[in-house]
Amino acid sequence: MARIIAITNQKGGVGKTTTAINLSACLAEAGQHVLLVDFDPQGNASSGLGLEREDIENTVYDLLTEEVTFEECRIAEIQKNLDILPSDMNLAGAEIEFQEIEDKEKLLRSYLEKIKDDYDFILIDCPPSLNILTINALTAADTVLVPIQCEYYALEGLGQVLKTVDLVKRKLNPGLELEGVVFTMYDARTNLSLEVVENVKSNLNRTIYKTIIPRNVRLAEAPSHGMSINQYDTRSTGAESYRMLAAEVMSRGEDL
Ligand code: ADP
Ligand code: MG
Repeated sequence: MARIIAITNQKGGVGKTTTAINLSACLAEAGQHVLLVDFDPQGNASSGLGLEREDIENTVYDLLTEEVTFEECRIAEIQKNLDILPSDMNLAGAEIEFQEIEDKEKLLRSYLEKIKDDYDFILIDCPPSLNILTINALTAADTVLVPIQCEYYALEGLGQVLKTVDLVKRKLNPGLELEGVVFTMYDARTNLSLEVVENVKSNLNRTIYKTIIPRNVRLAEAPSHGMSINQYDTRSTGAESYRMLAAEVMSRGEDL
């Protein structure tokens, strides 16, 4: 049965989508069967894996509004072992449209439950806000992975994410756990990156991944070529670090 991991942080630009794409791809490369759910109306995870508008017939929005079945929405084997549920701008209307629906927080969960047995990992790329989409993702998830950018305001966002996780845990999803915090865009040339890591470590007495994702220009370039980092530049430091993160995520599963 899959471990469902929501990748979330209400701050934009911290590396959620980069982590969702490349962790999915590296887990798949390691032989795990992975489903990536693009749950951001911006659709960056979909385009970052090379999907263009005309390739996408149905999106996760159509699935949630019961227009289509999972099979009609999922794009199978976008890479070996990796399937994706794509997204597009339509998902932005969800906040208003879902108002009327009973159990609107549990929509995604009810669909993923049906296919959970078909995968080893299901990763959900969340939008940069704490709206109904993020609540749906946290309600569907077993664990939450929080990317933190190594910058001055890093801690500011973290407190809010952890509060939301605790709230969802109490009200909607008692089994929800923190998968871990992963530092992204680490710049070894600056003292600031190091200070942020030390600061978060001393403030956060919860799981932090040993793997730190460095700032690596190849990671920023890969999505414009529609490729994950292991395809775009397999020997880059970005690829190596996401492989290490994938290994840590897999081994952590053994203790869960
Ligand atoms: P989010 O999904 O949290 O908004 P993204 O993953 O889209 O964040 O990352 C924001 C920007 O930073 C993107 O342009 C991305 O290519 C770039 N980026 C993310 N991680 C790295 C990294 N480790 N090194 C260099 N650029 C990165
Ligand atoms: Mg994103």
